[in-house]
Amino acid sequence: MMNKVVFGIDVGGTTIKCGFFSDDGELIEKEELPTRKENSGENILPDIAEYIKMTLAVHKKKFTDIAGIGIGVPGAVRDDGTVNKCVNLGWDVVNVPKKLSELLIFPKEKIKAGNDANVAALGEYWKGSGKEYSSIMMVTIGTGVGGGLIIDGKPINGFNGAAAEIGHMPLVDGLDFACNCGKTGCLEQVASATGIARLAGTKNAKEVFDRAKAGDKDMEEVIEKVCSYIGKGLACAAAIADPECFVIGGGVSAAGDYFIDKIKKYYKKQAFHPSIDTAIVKASLLNDAGIYGAAKLAL
Ligand SMILES: [Zn+2]
Repeated sequence: MMNKVVFGIDVGGTTIKCGFFSDDGELIEKEELPTRKENSGENILPDIAEYIKMTLAVHKKKFTDIAGIGIGVPGAVRDDGTVNKCVNLGWDVVNVPKKLSELLIFPKEKIKAGNDANVAALGEYWKGSGKEYSSIMMVTIGTGVGGGLIIDGKPINGFNGAAAEIGHMPLVDGLDFACNCGKTGCLEQVASATGIARLAGTKNAKEVFDRAKAGDKDMEEVIEKVCSYIGKGLACAAAIADPECFVIGGGVSAAGDYFIDKIKKYYKKQAFHPSIDTAIVKASLLNDAGIYGAAKLAL
């Protein structure tokens, strides 16, 4: 017999992934809504509020049955849920729990917001590849490179909401173009899917991996270079946070063991000796990490 329910919402630049969970973390149903970014993203929170009301009605649940609502957003989020200029959504400064609480007439204290990378890390920590470990750093390698750090079950946001932003570690010398953040030399510029394709001169990162796996020496060289930078980034991260495990997610992680093994090789080469055996594993929840993590954030 199910008691309370939880909503885990993962707001992305294109879609809003919505998860409806039992309070012991079982995913009952999921749904995707388009992210309506027009007019400074003013429809995004009302759309989420509407989804929550509809889902409760369909499942014959009341607002008092909700144990919590968690929301991941692609931007820096402070501990009180204030999102500071989320450019991907068109938002200026928004206090997500306060705004959603007004829309739903539901207690603000039961609504939690977090950075999407931290929230995905929490999802992997709770129900995915990280569940055997006390602390993890998740590195999401997709269009960009994101990071999330969970220590003893707690997401570490940092003072500015920018902790574990491993993609913007300035590790790369000699680049003559700027990162999305405006600086030059960020890990993301060579390690993201976009960066890998640019280094190799191919259409996409998948092609680079496919050709390297088939024995193309030039492509192998690109992958070695990319993995050496990622290994360096993880070694730097370990020197500060020393997690028990690194979880590698995002679209590029589909390259599998071929990719993970090379990251391990370069990590071991560069990491400080007490941390050289830190586990490095592939994420397992794929696109659902965000909704699981958002649900966990609210519990
Ligand atoms: Zn950057």
